[in-house]
Amino acid sequence: MTRHSICIMTILLLFATASAAVVPIEVEVVIEDRARLDALSWEVSVTDFVNGIATVVCSPAQIDRLRDLGYQLSVIKRPKFTGITMCPTGWENLGTPSWDCYPTYAQYEAMMHRLAESFPTLCRFHDLGPSANLTKDHRLLALEISDNPDIDEAEPEVFLTSTMHGDETAGYVTMLRLAFDLLNQYGSDVPITDLVDQTEIWINPLANPDGTYFGGDDTVRSAIRFLTTADGQVSWVNANRNFPDPRYGSHPHGDPWWPETVAMMDLAESRHFVLSANIHSGAELINYPWDTWCDRHPDDEWFFDLSLAWATAAQEDGPSGYMDDCRQPGCFGGTCTPGVTNGADWYMVAGGRQDFMTYFHGGREVTVEISSTKLLPSEQLPTIWTANRRALLNFIDAAQHGIHGTVIDADNGNPVSAMIEIIGLDSVEARSSVKTDTAAGDFHRLLNPGLYDLRISAMGRRTVILFDVEVPNDGPSV
Ligand SMILES: [Zn+2]
Repeated sequence: MTRHSICIMTILLLFATASAAVVPIEVEVVIEDRARLDALSWEVSVTDFVNGIATVVCSPAQIDRLRDLGYQLSVIKRPKFTGITMCPTGWENLGTPSWDCYPTYAQYEAMMHRLAESFPTLCRFHDLGPSANLTKDHRLLALEISDNPDIDEAEPEVFLTSTMHGDETAGYVTMLRLAFDLLNQYGSDVPITDLVDQTEIWINPLANPDGTYFGGDDTVRSAIRFLTTADGQVSWVNANRNFPDPRYGSHPHGDPWWPETVAMMDLAESRHFVLSANIHSGAELINYPWDTWCDRHPDDEWFFDLSLAWATAAQEDGPSGYMDDCRQPGCFGGTCTPGVTNGADWYMVAGGRQDFMTYFHGGREVTVEISSTKLLPSEQLPTIWTANRRALLNFIDAAQHGIHGTVIDADNGNPVSAMIEIIGLDSVEARSSVKTDTAAGDFHRLLNPGLYDLRISAMGRRTVILFDVEVPNDGPSV
Protein backbone atom coordinates (compact mmCIF):
# COMPACT_ATOMS: atom_id res chain seq x y z
CA MET A 1 0.00 0.00 0.00
CA THR A 2 1.38 3.39 -0.92
CA ARG A 3 1.76 6.18 1.52
CA HIS A 4 -0.89 8.12 -0.41
CA SER A 5 -3.58 5.45 -0.05
CA ILE A 6 -2.87 5.06 3.67
CA CYS A 7 -3.39 8.78 4.01
CA ILE A 8 -6.79 8.62 2.24
CA MET A 9 -7.91 5.70 4.41
CA THR A 10 -7.03 7.62 7.53
CA ILE A 11 -9.14 10.55 6.38
CA LEU A 12 -12.09 8.28 5.57
CA LEU A 13 -11.87 6.70 9.00
CA LEU A 14 -11.83 10.12 10.58
CA PHE A 15 -14.96 11.07 8.65
CA ALA A 16 -16.68 7.87 9.77
CA THR A 17 -15.81 8.61 13.39
CA ALA A 18 -17.00 12.18 13.08
CA SER A 19 -20.43 11.25 11.70
CA ALA A 20 -20.96 8.51 14.31
CA ALA A 21 -20.16 11.05 17.02
CA VAL A 22 -23.18 13.26 16.24
CA VAL A 23 -25.17 12.52 19.36
CA PRO A 24 -27.89 14.56 21.07
CA ILE A 25 -26.70 17.49 23.17
CA GLU A 26 -28.55 18.81 26.20
CA VAL A 27 -28.80 22.59 26.38
CA GLU A 28 -30.31 25.15 28.74
CA VAL A 29 -32.07 28.05 27.06
CA VAL A 30 -33.00 31.35 28.70
CA ILE A 31 -36.69 32.13 28.06
CA GLU A 32 -37.92 35.71 28.35
CA ASP A 33 -41.61 35.13 27.74
CA ARG A 34 -44.20 32.54 26.87
CA ALA A 35 -44.11 33.23 23.12
CA ARG A 36 -40.38 32.46 23.05
CA LEU A 37 -41.01 29.18 24.86
CA ASP A 38 -43.73 28.17 22.40
CA ALA A 39 -41.46 29.08 19.48
CA LEU A 40 -38.61 27.07 21.00
CA SER A 41 -40.85 24.01 21.39
CA TRP A 42 -41.53 24.15 17.64
CA GLU A 43 -37.82 24.17 16.83
CA VAL A 44 -36.41 21.56 19.17
CA SER A 45 -37.26 18.90 21.70
CA VAL A 46 -38.03 20.68 24.99
CA THR A 47 -37.81 18.40 28.03
CA ASP A 48 -38.43 20.82 30.88
CA PHE A 49 -39.19 24.43 31.67
CA VAL A 50 -38.74 25.86 35.14
CA ASN A 51 -37.78 29.28 36.52
CA GLY A 52 -37.30 30.86 33.10
CA ILE A 53 -34.94 28.15 31.85
CA ALA A 54 -35.93 25.57 29.24
CA THR A 55 -34.00 22.33 28.89
CA VAL A 56 -33.79 21.03 25.34
CA VAL A 57 -32.09 18.13 23.59
CA CYS A 58 -30.83 18.88 20.10
CA SER A 59 -28.25 18.38 17.38
CA PRO A 60 -25.22 20.65 16.79
CA ALA A 61 -27.05 22.07 13.75
CA GLN A 62 -30.06 22.90 15.90
CA ILE A 63 -27.80 24.67 18.40
CA ASP A 64 -26.56 26.89 15.57
CA ARG A 65 -30.14 27.53 14.52
CA LEU A 66 -31.18 28.50 18.06
CA ARG A 67 -28.24 30.91 18.25
CA ASP A 68 -29.34 32.42 14.92
CA LEU A 69 -32.81 32.89 16.39
CA GLY A 70 -31.27 34.86 19.23
CA TYR A 71 -31.69 32.34 22.03
CA GLN A 72 -29.19 32.57 24.85
CA LEU A 73 -28.05 29.05 25.61
CA SER A 74 -25.47 26.97 27.39
CA VAL A 75 -24.56 23.33 26.98
CA ILE A 76 -25.30 21.19 30.03
CA LYS A 77 -22.34 19.10 31.11
CA ARG A 78 -23.56 16.10 33.02
CA PRO A 79 -21.24 13.63 34.72
CA LYS A 80 -20.67 10.49 32.70
CA PHE A 81 -23.37 7.91 33.28
CA THR A 82 -22.48 5.64 36.15
CA GLY A 83 -24.25 2.93 38.05
CA ILE A 84 -25.72 1.15 35.04
CA THR A 85 -25.66 -2.57 35.79
CA MET A 86 -26.96 -5.03 33.25
CA CYS A 87 -28.85 -8.09 34.49
CA PRO A 88 -26.91 -11.35 34.90
CA THR A 89 -27.15 -14.17 32.39
CA GLY A 90 -30.31 -16.22 32.92
CA TRP A 91 -32.09 -13.36 34.74
CA GLU A 92 -35.09 -13.59 32.44
CA ASN A 93 -35.82 -17.15 33.63
CA LEU A 94 -35.56 -16.56 37.37
CA GLY A 95 -38.66 -17.08 39.53
CA THR A 96 -37.77 -14.08 41.67
CA PRO A 97 -35.53 -11.88 39.53
CA SER A 98 -33.80 -8.90 41.11
CA TRP A 99 -35.08 -5.61 39.69
CA ASP A 100 -31.98 -3.50 40.26
CA CYS A 101 -30.53 -4.11 36.82
CA TYR A 102 -31.34 -3.43 33.17
CA PRO A 103 -32.13 -6.39 30.92
CA THR A 104 -30.35 -6.80 27.61
CA TYR A 105 -32.65 -6.56 24.60
CA ALA A 106 -32.64 -10.37 24.30
CA GLN A 107 -33.52 -10.75 27.99
CA TYR A 108 -36.37 -8.27 27.61
CA GLU A 109 -37.84 -10.12 24.66
CA ALA A 110 -37.35 -13.49 26.39
CA MET A 111 -39.03 -12.22 29.58
CA MET A 112 -42.03 -10.97 27.59
CA HIS A 113 -42.39 -14.35 25.87
CA ARG A 114 -41.88 -16.25 29.09
CA LEU A 115 -44.56 -14.32 30.97
CA ALA A 116 -47.13 -15.03 28.26
CA GLU A 117 -46.15 -18.71 28.12
CA SER A 118 -46.11 -19.14 31.92
CA PHE A 119 -49.59 -17.66 32.38
CA PRO A 120 -51.61 -18.95 29.42
CA THR A 121 -54.96 -18.25 31.09
CA LEU A 122 -54.06 -14.63 31.92
CA CYS A 123 -51.67 -13.30 29.33
CA ARG A 124 -51.12 -12.90 25.60
CA PHE A 125 -47.95 -11.76 23.85
CA HIS A 126 -48.47 -9.20 21.07
CA ASP A 127 -45.93 -8.11 18.48
CA LEU A 128 -46.98 -4.60 17.48
CA GLY A 129 -44.44 -4.36 14.68
CA PRO A 130 -40.81 -3.54 13.93
CA SER A 131 -38.94 -0.43 15.01
CA ALA A 132 -37.30 1.90 12.49
CA ASN A 133 -33.78 0.46 12.63
CA LEU A 134 -33.64 -2.22 9.94
CA THR A 135 -30.15 -3.32 11.01
CA LYS A 136 -31.58 -4.65 14.30
CA ASP A 137 -34.43 -7.06 14.94
CA HIS A 138 -36.12 -4.75 17.43
CA ARG A 139 -39.87 -5.09 17.87
CA LEU A 140 -42.51 -3.17 19.76
CA LEU A 141 -43.92 -5.72 22.18
CA ALA A 142 -46.94 -5.73 24.44
CA LEU A 143 -48.53 -8.06 26.95
CA GLU A 144 -52.28 -8.25 27.31
CA ILE A 145 -53.24 -9.25 30.83
CA SER A 146 -56.81 -10.17 31.76
CA ASP A 147 -58.81 -13.07 33.15
CA ASN A 148 -60.06 -14.13 29.70
CA PRO A 149 -57.39 -12.74 27.37
CA ASP A 150 -58.88 -14.24 24.21
CA ILE A 151 -62.31 -12.72 24.77
CA ASP A 152 -63.07 -9.03 24.26
CA GLU A 153 -65.24 -8.79 27.37
CA ALA A 154 -67.38 -5.86 28.47
CA GLU A 155 -64.42 -4.56 30.49
CA PRO A 156 -62.49 -1.28 30.26
CA GLU A 157 -59.18 -1.52 28.39
CA VAL A 158 -56.19 0.21 29.98
CA PHE A 159 -52.85 0.78 28.24
CA LEU A 160 -49.50 1.46 29.91
CA THR A 161 -46.42 2.22 27.86
CA SER A 162 -42.96 3.56 28.57
CA THR A 163 -39.67 4.86 27.24
CA MET A 164 -40.65 6.26 23.84
CA HIS A 165 -37.67 8.49 24.63
CA GLY A 166 -35.05 5.76 24.67
CA ASP A 167 -32.86 7.22 27.41
CA GLU A 168 -35.73 7.56 29.92
CA THR A 169 -35.25 4.07 31.22
CA ALA A 170 -36.83 3.94 34.70
CA GLY A 171 -40.34 3.33 33.36
CA TYR A 172 -39.14 0.52 31.11
CA VAL A 173 -38.08 -1.74 33.98
CA THR A 174 -41.03 -0.52 36.08
CA MET A 175 -43.50 -1.64 33.39
CA LEU A 176 -41.80 -5.01 33.02
CA ARG A 177 -42.00 -5.48 36.77
CA LEU A 178 -45.66 -4.43 36.80
CA ALA A 179 -46.49 -7.11 34.23
CA PHE A 180 -44.46 -9.65 36.21
CA ASP A 181 -46.24 -8.83 39.48
CA LEU A 182 -49.75 -8.67 37.98
CA LEU A 183 -49.25 -12.20 36.68
CA ASN A 184 -47.28 -13.71 39.56
CA GLN A 185 -49.47 -12.22 42.29
CA TYR A 186 -52.79 -12.98 40.61
CA GLY A 187 -54.77 -15.19 42.96
CA SER A 188 -52.79 -14.21 46.07
CA ASP A 189 -52.96 -10.39 46.06
CA VAL A 190 -56.63 -9.36 46.24
CA PRO A 191 -56.41 -5.90 44.58
CA ILE A 192 -54.27 -7.30 41.75
CA THR A 193 -56.67 -10.23 41.25
CA ASP A 194 -59.63 -7.83 41.09
CA LEU A 195 -57.88 -5.57 38.59
CA VAL A 196 -56.93 -8.45 36.30
CA ASP A 197 -60.46 -9.90 36.56
CA GLN A 198 -62.17 -6.59 35.77
CA THR A 199 -59.82 -4.91 33.31
CA GLU A 200 -58.06 -5.66 30.04
CA ILE A 201 -54.56 -4.40 30.81
CA TRP A 202 -52.08 -3.81 27.98
CA ILE A 203 -48.44 -3.13 28.82
CA ASN A 204 -45.73 -2.05 26.37
CA PRO A 205 -42.59 -1.58 28.49
CA LEU A 206 -40.34 -0.29 25.72
CA ALA A 207 -41.71 1.98 22.99
CA ASN A 208 -38.32 2.93 21.52
CA PRO A 209 -35.96 -0.08 21.63
CA ASP A 210 -33.67 1.48 19.00
CA GLY A 211 -33.09 4.48 21.26
CA THR A 212 -32.63 2.50 24.46
CA TYR A 213 -30.21 0.01 22.88
CA PHE A 214 -28.52 2.58 20.65
CA GLY A 215 -25.12 1.44 21.92
CA GLY A 216 -25.81 -2.27 21.28
CA ASP A 217 -28.31 -4.85 22.48
CA ASP A 218 -26.27 -5.75 25.55
CA THR A 219 -26.21 -2.30 27.15
CA VAL A 220 -28.42 0.73 27.80
CA ARG A 221 -25.42 2.95 28.65
CA SER A 222 -25.51 4.75 25.29
CA ALA A 223 -29.29 5.16 25.18
CA ILE A 224 -30.59 8.18 23.27
CA ARG A 225 -33.82 10.14 23.34
CA PHE A 226 -34.69 10.06 19.66
CA LEU A 227 -35.94 7.44 17.23
CA THR A 228 -33.38 6.15 14.74
CA THR A 229 -33.20 6.01 10.98
CA ALA A 230 -33.49 2.74 9.04
CA ASP A 231 -29.69 2.39 9.13
CA GLY A 232 -29.53 2.97 12.87
CA GLN A 233 -28.40 6.61 13.03
CA VAL A 234 -29.99 9.31 15.19
CA SER A 235 -33.09 10.48 13.29
CA TRP A 236 -33.68 13.58 15.45
CA VAL A 237 -37.36 12.66 15.32
CA ASN A 238 -38.97 12.89 18.74
CA ALA A 239 -41.48 10.06 19.24
CA ASN A 240 -43.66 12.37 21.31
CA ARG A 241 -43.95 14.97 18.52
CA ASN A 242 -44.73 12.50 15.74
CA PHE A 243 -48.46 11.84 16.26
CA PRO A 244 -51.43 13.52 14.57
CA ASP A 245 -52.33 16.63 16.52
CA PRO A 246 -55.78 18.10 17.24
CA ARG A 247 -54.56 21.59 16.34
CA TYR A 248 -51.86 21.12 13.72
CA GLY A 249 -53.09 18.09 11.78
CA SER A 250 -51.61 14.78 10.72
CA HIS A 251 -47.91 15.70 10.58
CA PRO A 252 -47.44 18.70 12.86
CA HIS A 253 -43.67 18.91 12.36
CA GLY A 254 -43.61 17.75 8.74
CA ASP A 255 -42.06 14.35 9.53
CA PRO A 256 -43.62 11.15 8.24
CA TRP A 257 -45.01 8.83 10.89
CA TRP A 258 -42.18 6.67 12.15
CA PRO A 259 -42.77 2.88 12.39
CA GLU A 260 -43.00 3.24 16.19
CA THR A 261 -45.76 5.83 15.77
CA VAL A 262 -47.61 3.70 13.22
CA ALA A 263 -47.48 0.71 15.58
CA MET A 264 -49.09 2.78 18.35
CA MET A 265 -51.67 4.27 15.98
CA ASP A 266 -52.59 0.79 14.71
CA LEU A 267 -52.91 -0.54 18.25
CA ALA A 268 -55.09 2.40 19.30
CA GLU A 269 -57.29 1.80 16.25
CA SER A 270 -57.67 -1.93 16.88
CA ARG A 271 -58.38 -1.65 20.62
CA HIS A 272 -60.70 0.51 22.68
CA PHE A 273 -58.48 2.01 25.37
CA VAL A 274 -60.44 4.14 27.82
CA LEU A 275 -57.44 5.04 29.97
CA SER A 276 -53.71 5.11 29.29
CA ALA A 277 -50.41 6.35 30.68
CA ASN A 278 -47.21 7.15 28.81
CA ILE A 279 -44.19 7.00 31.11
CA HIS A 280 -41.17 9.27 30.71
CA SER A 281 -38.30 10.67 32.78
CA GLY A 282 -36.64 14.04 33.17
CA ALA A 283 -38.94 15.38 35.89
CA GLU A 284 -41.22 14.03 38.61
CA LEU A 285 -44.83 14.91 37.94
CA ILE A 286 -48.00 13.82 36.17
CA ASN A 287 -48.87 15.85 33.07
CA TYR A 288 -52.37 15.73 31.59
CA PRO A 289 -54.01 17.01 28.34
CA TRP A 290 -54.03 19.16 26.49
CA ASP A 291 -50.46 19.73 25.34
CA THR A 292 -51.29 21.52 22.12
CA TRP A 293 -53.43 24.37 23.45
CA CYS A 294 -54.40 26.05 26.69
CA ASP A 295 -58.09 25.15 26.27
CA ARG A 296 -59.20 22.91 29.10
CA HIS A 297 -60.57 19.44 28.47
CA PRO A 298 -64.19 19.02 29.68
CA ASP A 299 -62.77 16.43 32.11
CA ASP A 300 -60.11 18.85 33.37
CA GLU A 301 -61.13 18.36 36.99
CA TRP A 302 -61.20 14.58 36.60
CA PHE A 303 -57.76 14.63 34.92
CA PHE A 304 -56.40 16.78 37.72
CA ASP A 305 -57.81 14.48 40.41
CA LEU A 306 -56.49 11.38 38.63
CA SER A 307 -53.03 12.94 38.33
CA LEU A 308 -53.05 14.18 41.91
CA ALA A 309 -53.99 10.69 43.14
CA TRP A 310 -50.91 9.27 41.40
CA ALA A 311 -48.63 12.04 42.68
CA THR A 312 -49.94 11.78 46.24
CA ALA A 313 -49.52 7.99 46.42
CA ALA A 314 -46.01 8.29 44.98
CA GLN A 315 -45.10 11.05 47.43
CA GLU A 316 -46.34 8.89 50.32
CA ASP A 317 -44.61 5.71 49.16
CA GLY A 318 -41.43 7.26 47.73
CA PRO A 319 -38.43 8.96 49.31
CA SER A 320 -38.72 12.49 50.67
CA GLY A 321 -39.14 15.03 47.88
CA TYR A 322 -40.15 12.45 45.28
CA MET A 323 -42.85 13.28 42.67
CA ASP A 324 -43.39 16.81 43.89
CA ASP A 325 -42.00 18.93 41.04
CA CYS A 326 -43.84 22.25 40.84
CA ARG A 327 -44.15 23.94 37.46
CA GLN A 328 -45.70 27.41 37.35
CA PRO A 329 -48.88 27.32 35.22
CA GLY A 330 -48.06 29.25 32.04
CA CYS A 331 -51.53 29.46 30.47
CA PHE A 332 -53.66 31.42 32.90
CA GLY A 333 -51.28 31.94 35.84
CA GLY A 334 -52.02 30.70 39.35
CA THR A 335 -50.00 28.54 41.68
CA CYS A 336 -48.41 25.21 40.93
CA THR A 337 -49.45 21.90 42.43
CA PRO A 338 -46.58 19.65 43.54
CA GLY A 339 -46.44 16.64 41.22
CA VAL A 340 -49.18 17.71 38.79
CA THR A 341 -49.39 19.98 35.75
CA ASN A 342 -51.60 20.57 32.78
CA GLY A 343 -49.50 19.91 29.65
CA ALA A 344 -49.76 23.31 27.96
CA ASP A 345 -49.40 25.02 31.33
CA TRP A 346 -45.87 23.55 31.45
CA TYR A 347 -44.86 23.98 27.80
CA MET A 348 -46.76 23.39 24.60
CA VAL A 349 -46.21 20.30 22.52
CA ALA A 350 -47.59 19.50 19.06
CA GLY A 351 -47.77 15.86 17.98
CA GLY A 352 -47.72 14.40 21.48
CA ARG A 353 -49.26 11.07 22.29
CA GLN A 354 -51.54 12.04 25.15
CA ASP A 355 -53.44 14.50 22.95
CA PHE A 356 -53.58 11.93 20.15
CA MET A 357 -55.06 9.20 22.34
CA THR A 358 -57.44 11.58 24.06
CA TYR A 359 -58.64 13.53 21.02
CA PHE A 360 -58.62 10.98 18.21
CA HIS A 361 -59.53 7.87 20.18
CA GLY A 362 -61.84 9.17 22.89
CA GLY A 363 -59.42 7.85 25.52
CA ARG A 364 -57.95 9.58 28.52
CA GLU A 365 -54.15 9.59 28.60
CA VAL A 366 -51.66 11.13 30.99
CA THR A 367 -47.89 11.49 30.74
CA VAL A 368 -46.03 10.37 33.82
CA GLU A 369 -42.57 11.82 34.41
CA ILE A 370 -41.35 9.14 36.77
CA SER A 371 -37.78 10.14 37.62
CA SER A 372 -35.75 13.33 37.38
CA THR A 373 -32.77 11.33 36.19
CA LYS A 374 -33.27 9.99 32.70
CA LEU A 375 -30.82 7.10 32.49
CA LEU A 376 -31.41 6.08 36.08
CA PRO A 377 -28.67 4.19 37.96
CA SER A 378 -29.95 0.63 38.19
CA GLU A 379 -29.76 0.44 41.98
CA GLN A 380 -32.43 3.17 42.14
CA LEU A 381 -34.94 1.19 40.05
CA PRO A 382 -36.47 -0.60 43.08
CA THR A 383 -37.08 2.79 44.74
CA ILE A 384 -39.04 3.97 41.70
CA TRP A 385 -41.05 0.75 41.80
CA THR A 386 -41.87 1.04 45.50
CA ALA A 387 -42.87 4.68 45.06
CA ASN A 388 -45.21 3.95 42.15
CA ARG A 389 -46.62 0.46 42.73
CA ARG A 390 -49.76 1.62 44.56
CA ALA A 391 -50.14 4.62 42.24
CA LEU A 392 -50.03 2.31 39.22
CA LEU A 393 -52.62 -0.10 40.62
CA ASN A 394 -54.89 2.80 41.59
CA PHE A 395 -54.48 4.24 38.10
CA ILE A 396 -55.59 0.97 36.48
CA ASP A 397 -58.47 0.84 38.96
CA ALA A 398 -59.58 4.33 37.88
CA ALA A 399 -60.98 2.70 34.73
CA GLN A 400 -63.64 1.12 36.99
CA HIS A 401 -64.92 4.47 38.26
CA GLY A 402 -67.56 6.18 36.18
CA ILE A 403 -70.60 5.11 34.22
CA HIS A 404 -70.38 1.72 32.59
CA GLY A 405 -72.95 0.11 30.37
CA THR A 406 -73.67 -1.99 27.33
CA VAL A 407 -75.68 -0.86 24.32
CA ILE A 408 -77.34 -3.75 22.51
CA ASP A 409 -80.04 -4.16 19.90
CA ALA A 410 -83.36 -4.85 21.68
CA ASP A 411 -84.40 -7.32 18.97
CA ASN A 412 -81.35 -9.51 18.52
CA GLY A 413 -79.03 -8.60 21.41
CA ASN A 414 -76.17 -7.62 19.09
CA PRO A 415 -73.76 -4.90 20.28
CA VAL A 416 -74.50 -1.45 18.88
CA SER A 417 -72.05 1.27 17.86
CA ALA A 418 -73.30 4.19 19.93
CA MET A 419 -72.11 7.56 21.23
CA ILE A 420 -72.49 8.40 24.92
CA GLU A 421 -72.60 12.09 25.76
CA ILE A 422 -72.66 13.56 29.24
CA ILE A 423 -75.14 16.41 28.87
CA GLY A 424 -73.71 19.74 30.00
CA LEU A 425 -70.17 18.39 30.26
CA ASP A 426 -69.01 16.90 26.97
CA SER A 427 -68.09 19.11 24.05
CA VAL A 428 -67.87 18.49 20.32
CA GLU A 429 -64.66 20.58 20.08
CA ALA A 430 -62.88 18.36 22.61
CA ARG A 431 -64.40 15.16 21.20
CA SER A 432 -64.90 14.10 24.79
CA SER A 433 -67.99 11.92 24.27
CA VAL A 434 -67.13 8.23 24.32
CA LYS A 435 -68.22 5.45 22.00
CA THR A 436 -69.18 1.87 22.66
CA ASP A 437 -66.67 -0.87 21.93
CA THR A 438 -68.38 -2.61 19.03
CA ALA A 439 -66.98 -6.00 20.09
CA ALA A 440 -69.27 -6.23 23.13
CA GLY A 441 -71.23 -2.95 22.97
CA ASP A 442 -69.73 -1.79 26.27
CA PHE A 443 -68.85 1.77 27.16
CA HIS A 444 -66.92 3.20 30.08
CA ARG A 445 -67.31 6.91 30.75
CA LEU A 446 -64.79 7.66 33.49
CA LEU A 447 -66.13 10.32 35.85
CA ASN A 448 -65.77 11.70 39.34
CA PRO A 449 -68.57 10.87 41.81
CA GLY A 450 -71.81 12.75 41.12
CA LEU A 451 -75.08 12.70 39.19
CA TYR A 452 -74.99 12.84 35.40
CA ASP A 453 -77.46 12.96 32.50
CA LEU A 454 -76.54 10.76 29.54
CA ARG A 455 -77.56 11.01 25.91
CA ILE A 456 -77.06 7.73 24.05
CA SER A 457 -77.32 8.01 20.30
CA ALA A 458 -76.75 5.59 17.44
CA MET A 459 -77.14 5.94 13.70
CA GLY A 460 -80.72 5.24 12.58
CA ARG A 461 -82.01 4.67 16.11
CA ARG A 462 -84.04 6.60 18.63
CA THR A 463 -81.88 8.66 21.00
CA VAL A 464 -82.15 7.64 24.65
CA ILE A 465 -81.63 10.08 27.53
CA LEU A 466 -80.97 8.80 31.03
CA PHE A 467 -81.28 11.33 33.87
CA ASP A 468 -79.46 11.40 37.21
CA VAL A 469 -77.18 8.43 36.72
CA GLU A 470 -75.09 8.23 39.86
CA VAL A 471 -71.35 7.64 40.08
CA PRO A 472 -70.90 6.57 43.70
CA ASN A 473 -68.10 7.82 45.90
CA ASP A 474 -66.36 4.50 46.49
CA GLY A 475 -62.78 5.68 46.09
CA PRO A 476 -59.74 3.79 44.83
CA SER A 477 -59.44 0.14 45.76
CA VAL A 478 -55.78 -0.07 46.82
ZN1 LIG B 1 -39.74 11.85 27.58
